[in-house]
Amino acid sequence: MNSGHVQAYIGIGSNLDAPASQLLRSLARLASLPETRLQASSRLYRTPPMGPPGQPWYMNAVAELETRLEPLVLLDHLQAIEEAFGRIRAERWGPRTLDLDLLVYRDLIHECPRLSLPHPGIAERAFVLYPLKDLAPDLEIPRQGTLSRLIEALGAPCPEAI
Ligand code: ATP
Ligand code: CA
Ligand code: CA
Repeated sequence: MNSGHVQAYIGIGSNLDAPASQLLRSLARLASLPETRLQASSRLYRTPPMGPPGQPWYMNAVAELETRLEPLVLLDHLQAIEEAFGRIRAERWGPRTLDLDLLVYRDLIHECPRLSLPHPGIAERAFVLYPLKDLAPDLEIPRQGTLSRLIEALGAPCPEAI
């Protein structure tokens, strides 16, 4: 793509209303964002819920984008897609039709109330690290280290891919 495009990785999760279908539909929405190209997507992973007990299992994936959108503008778009998919925010880490997290945006480090970059949960989440590895095994997460070191440090098995 032309210069001015940067690489960004989006973490995608769903555990309501046919999660795999939510993931696939969300990829189509990401592909149609302005000034953005969907470069690749990971396999889909079936993963245990992280938040309150009693939730259905999740489906998770990661998408690689090339985009000219500024990070906060990209986040606006991600949140608009979540809303269009019927996301209701109730309890923290509660069940959701669609969650889109901006994991990494180029090598940017950013801290503001709306946006932390890289996403602060990456290192503790097998459901993020393994799909990222599908796309970019040599990725360096700013401030956190290489993907392979993070996976080794976490020591969690790879979730089931479908
Ligand atoms: P977690 O962020 O731990 O994965 P969550 O995805 O369930 O939890 P949400 O309710 O989706 O959390 O988002 C809460 C807020 O996090 C959002 O309003 C958003 O502004 C903020 N946020 C901060 N950094 C990011 C990021 N890198 N990607 C997406 N949202 C972010
Ligand atoms: Ca999340
Ligand atoms: Ca989120």
